[in-house]
Amino acid sequence: MWPAVAQQVAVPASHQTRCRTHNCGELVTYMRVGVSPNHIGFFCAADHFQGGWTPHADFEPDGKYAGLLPAEWFEAPRKKRAKALMIRDGIRYETLMAANDACCFCRRLRPAQPKRQSYVRAWMQQNRPDVYRRVALAFDACVAAGEPIAATDWMRFMPEDVQIAVKHAIERSDLDADHVIPVWLLKEMRLTIETRMSKAAFSFLANDCCIPLCRSCNAGRPTNSLEPSNMLKDRYIQSKFGGNAKRAEQSKEFKALAQALEYAHAYLAQRAAAGA
Ligand SMILES: [Zn+2]
Ligand SMILES: [Zn+2]
Repeated sequence: MWPAVAQQVAVPASHQTRCRTHNCGELVTYMRVGVSPNHIGFFCAADHFQGGWTPHADFEPDGKYAGLLPAEWFEAPRKKRAKALMIRDGIRYETLMAANDACCFCRRLRPAQPKRQSYVRAWMQQNRPDVYRRVALAFDACVAAGEPIAATDWMRFMPEDVQIAVKHAIERSDLDADHVIPVWLLKEMRLTIETRMSKAAFSFLANDCCIPLCRSCNAGRPTNSLEPSNMLKDRYIQSKFGGNAKRAEQSKEFKALAQALEYAHAYLAQRAAAGA
């Protein structure tokens, strides 16, 4: 929590510089911290303000002044910023309901009854044939050995690695509503995109524009690029417009998404060219 009362905090010797005011030369020894995180200023021993408020991001854990002010002071603004990039609960719920338990990238279903062993076996056969094959092999081996294994009770007979594979398959099929344009890219683009897009358009990308993804597809998304626009648009049409491209293309939100994807790809191409 940010302190409710303005205060002075000493600058440790390791961070003391010389005053920038003409002919002063005193050491910069303290900070004045106002009642809002936007008012953090450095002062010299002769009380000269060192030109301009310092951005509070500089004092956060990865900032250049990290550690000079208590980390817990910055929790609320950090949480607020994180929330500014989160899909709204209502939209998340709607998206998952409309998804009918299916990931829109891999089209696999999440298991509706992950605790019922007969169900899980049938679910794997349809959705995770790779894991199912391992279960089937172990299952047959148990039958051959005369174990009392059954369709409703097989998990405890599986070797440990197969049990783990089944558990992971179930966990990784869990669905969530994920940003069409991922958060890392939104964060990067925020600075430049806001000058070209309205606040409402940006908040649409950050808070509303999502698709249902399973955990394994979510984890497999590229971390330094973006899927092709046509693929993402197609998934969005499937998820939000029941596959009706005509209806989607007439909607304001789809136009906003199309424009944003175009911008995002242009931005990434520019960034790659600058890095090359
Ligand atoms: Zn001074
Ligand atoms: Zn998936």
